[in-house]
Amino acid sequence: MIRLVCPLCSTTIADGREPEVGEACPGCSAIVLGGGNDPISGVAAALDQNGDVELPVDEVARALFALAAPDPRARLAGITSDERDGFYRWWVLVRNDEGDVLESLLDPADSSDDTRSG
Ligand SMILES: [Zn+2]
Repeated sequence: MIRLVCPLCSTTIADGREPEVGEACPGCSAIVLGGGNDPISGVAAALDQNGDVELPVDEVARALFALAAPDPRARLAGITSDERDGFYRWWVLVRNDEGDVLESLLDPADSSDDTRSG
């Protein structure tokens, strides 16, 4: 049994088969990257597949796990494990519609709404 559900839109991407690197989520068209046996190796593989080999793996992993709803990047990237018997593989889903989303994760969250008066 293998099942991969998209962390961005909850659509089932792979059911009963191995997810494939580079396939698109049928729900939101995010691209499947990664496939490591733990989160760090999954992120390392995803960075390699996305052409971001120079980015620090641990920082990108931390940023992926920290992504949450108010941050618009939470709709563009996510990390998840699949479900299978006995062990997991870790996958990174990315939508590069607005540029390289994995690279953008290393920027601080957008806090442009900084209103001061007086
Ligand atoms: Zn999706």
